[in-house]
Amino acid sequence: MFDDILNSFFGGGGAGGARTHRQPQPGPERGADLRYDLGITFEEAAFGTKKSIKVPRSETCSDCKGTGAAPGTEVEICPECHGMGQKQTVRQMGFMRMQTLETCNRCHGAGKIPKTPCSHCHGDGKIKVTREVQVTIPRGVDNGTRLRIAGGGQAGERGGQPGDLFVYINIKPHQIFKRNGNDVYCEVPISFVQAALGADVDTPTIDGKIELKVPAGTQSGTVLKIKGKGIPFMRGEGRGDELVTIKVLTPRNLTDRQKKLLEQFEEDIDDQRVHPEKKSFLDKLKSFFS
Ligand SMILES: [Zn+2]
Ligand SMILES: [Zn+2]
Repeated sequence: MFDDILNSFFGGGGAGGARTHRQPQPGPERGADLRYDLGITFEEAAFGTKKSIKVPRSETCSDCKGTGAAPGTEVEICPECHGMGQKQTVRQMGFMRMQTLETCNRCHGAGKIPKTPCSHCHGDGKIKVTREVQVTIPRGVDNGTRLRIAGGGQAGERGGQPGDLFVYINIKPHQIFKRNGNDVYCEVPISFVQAALGADVDTPTIDGKIELKVPAGTQSGTVLKIKGKGIPFMRGEGRGDELVTIKVLTPRNLTDRQKKLLEQFEEDIDDQRVHPEKKSFLDKLKSFFS
């Protein structure tokens, strides 16, 4: 294409060059790329999946092989552009003579028009179809990952290759998990008694439920790491981690008996030993106000 333009700008060569009668023929042109946004679940992104998508696109007509002429019939040189596929206009701009090229609107750049148009594509050389495309989504894809399906785009012009289809991954939010890179995040609530005494707590992972050992004396906001329970890496072996934030719940709507038990507990405890942070906080307060 670019060569053709160069030819018509600089071609015809030599000094005052005798112009040839053979006009440059427009060459094949690759088709446009297509974009498809595909929504998938958190788990599908983690472990990979196969999806069938419907893509509307243009394809080269199989009846006429893209010429637009009914099979067995001739094509003739376009009378509008005389087979150039382009029309030249010359404008004088000050001292400059500007030559511009425009695609011929009669033959759409082909330089030829069918005598008898192909009945399948009505002479376009292309047909609009909706193709069902199987997309293999590898494990570990992330939001915005782009998968290329070679040749899945629009039909090329004048026998050119079709463009590519690009599938952009869009991961739907999960009700439990969040993700950052290959690490998975979630929050697990436990009672203050579990936090104080330690407990094995049912914890979700993307592989299913596991028992997470929460050590005695765990504070709210503590993050516990479960190694290797994150998202598999897209390339190579291994997986990210799961990071569980422990949320210690403060009990509400206590009965009178429960309140009494807690008051007894409060009287019984030795703050120095049980809540060392509280002592150092009170000391800081004292020095702040003095
Ligand atoms: Zn056709
Ligand atoms: Zn033309």
